[in-house]
Amino acid sequence: MSTSIIVVGANGRMGRTISQLVDAEPAFNLAGMVDSKEHVGKLAGSPCPVGDSLAAVLPQAPGAVTIDFTAPAVSLQSARTVAESGRALVIGTTGFTDAEKDELRELAKRAPIFWSSNMSIGINVLYKILPELTRALGDTYDIEMVELHHNHKKDSPSGTALTLGECLAEARGWKLNDVRCSSRDGIIGERPKAQIGIQAIRGGDVVGVHTVYFMGPGERIEVTHQAHSRENFAQGALRAAAWLAGQKPGKLYGMQDTF
Ligand code: NAD
Repeated sequence: MSTSIIVVGANGRMGRTISQLVDAEPAFNLAGMVDSKEHVGKLAGSPCPVGDSLAAVLPQAPGAVTIDFTAPAVSLQSARTVAESGRALVIGTTGFTDAEKDELRELAKRAPIFWSSNMSIGINVLYKILPELTRALGDTYDIEMVELHHNHKKDSPSGTALTLGECLAEARGWKLNDVRCSSRDGIIGERPKAQIGIQAIRGGDVVGVHTVYFMGPGERIEVTHQAHSRENFAQGALRAAAWLAGQKPGKLYGMQDTF
C-alpha cells in the first residue's frame, strides 16, 4: 500500500524536490500541495488538491501524511492544524525558538509529529558518534564548527549545526546556549576552554556543508559532512513519513526513533 503525502511549502526548494520524488516512487502518492497565498498560483494544474492552507487541503486527502519544509511560524501552524485531527506531520523546517519547540512538543501529545533539523542518514549517524569521539579525546581538545549554505538560507547558524553543537556540548557536560560563540571580532582575548564556536558562511548554491574541528596539542581532527543534493533530505523525509504513518501521538519524534 502506498503512503499518501501532502506537501506544505510545495513551491519551495525542498517542497519541489519532495514532490518530484513522490511522483517517481511507487511507494508514495501526492495527495495535496500547499503554499502561501502569493505562491499557490504556481501550483495550478497539479494532479491533486492544492490550497493556501493545510486546514483546507487536509480533509480532501484522508489518511495522508503531511510533510512541511517552510518557516517556523508556518510549520507551527501546520502542527496546530494536525493536532485538531490527530493526523501525522513530518517537519523539516529549521530556526525554531526554544518556546516554539516547546509548543511542538505539547502538540505532539495530540498527533504524531516528527521533526528533524537534518533528514540525511550521514548527519544522523554523526549525532550519535561525535559525542563518543568528544568523550574519547577528552577535554584538552577545543571544538569548533563551520557550516556553509546557499545565499537564500534564512536562519543562522543552521539547525543542523545547532543540533550537532547540542550533542557535542552535552558530551562535555555543558549546555550549548551557555558555551556557543558565533561571532569573533576585535580584541576578544584568549579562547575560553568552555566554548564551542559555530561560524556560518553563506553563498552561491551550496546545499549544506558542516565541518566539526577537534583541535588538540599537536594534532587536529576534522569531520566533514557534505550534502551533494536536496534529494538526500527529501528521501529522509519520505522515509520518516512512511514510518510516522504507523505511530501514535505522545512525543515529538526524531530520526533516532526510526533507526
Ligand atoms: P524555500 O524558501 O525554498 O521554501 C519555503 C516554501 O515555503 C516557499 O515555497 C514558500 O512560499 C513556502 N511558504 C511560505 N509561507 C507559507 C505559508 N504560509 N503556507 C505554505 N507555504 C508557505 O526554503 P527551502 O530551502 O525549501 O527550506 C525550507 C526549510 O527547510 C528551511 O527552514 C530550511 O532550513 C529547512 N531545511 C531542512 C532540511 C532538513 O533536512 N531538515 C533540509 C533542507 C532545508
